[in-house]
Amino acid sequence: MKMIKGVLLGAGLLLVTACMTTNEVTGRSQFIIIPPSQDAALGLEAMNEVKKSAPVQTSGPMAERVQRIGARIVAISDAPNLGWEFVVIDEPVLNAWALPGGKVAIYSKMVESFTSDEELAAVIGHEIAHAVLRHGAEQMSRAQMQNLLIIGAGVAVGATTEDDETAQMAVGLASLATAGFVQLPHSRKMELEADHVGTMYMAKAGYDPRASVRLWQRMKTLKEGGGQPPTFLSTHPSDDKRISRLEERMEEYLSYYRK
Ligand SMILES: [Zn+2]
Repeated sequence: MKMIKGVLLGAGLLLVTACMTTNEVTGRSQFIIIPPSQDAALGLEAMNEVKKSAPVQTSGPMAERVQRIGARIVAISDAPNLGWEFVVIDEPVLNAWALPGGKVAIYSKMVESFTSDEELAAVIGHEIAHAVLRHGAEQMSRAQMQNLLIIGAGVAVGATTEDDETAQMAVGLASLATAGFVQLPHSRKMELEADHVGTMYMAKAGYDPRASVRLWQRMKTLKEGGGQPPTFLSTHPSDDKRISRLEERMEEYLSYYRK
């Protein structure tokens, strides 16, 4: 954060002012240098890269289950018209991620670990919320600001063509995605925000929001069960923190569910 602050104080004040946008869903002010129009191209290109290097399933029972739940939640979300795509990556990993523009992947172990659609809806709702709230673009903007500092030129924004920039970012994003690290750069604030908005969405779509608490309790057990640490959980907020936050607002979520 210190590095970013340095840049802001230096060359970038005007840029920063221009790039602060208020998120319509959360009301939170976000620093995003990627225009919304670029999200779609970026996510599509990154997803195509992932498809080249990972065992991606776009059809079959697992993918169809994820797509059915995804479509139901997307329909009541704040961005039903993004270029949504839901795929399964056939690897024994407890993880899921969302790329800008609504490209979502759930790993097969995650799908198989939750036989109830409601718990899987909690996972998918969380990822849909990341995409709707543009957390990927926000995170990439922060990373780009750091790069700008490294090359020492705040004025370099816009010096490369948009297409080259998109292609470069997409390849970088895809390698992060296939390495299972897409979740890692999200801040604690973003994770809790995705929990909140995702649980609201699942409830509005007719899934019992109490399943979100069961999801995190189950993930905790799976994690303690040994094997590899689930990447999905390795971000900042602890499971207990997530659970207590969700429980605090459960009445609100239930009011959407009972409508
Ligand atoms: Zn997340």
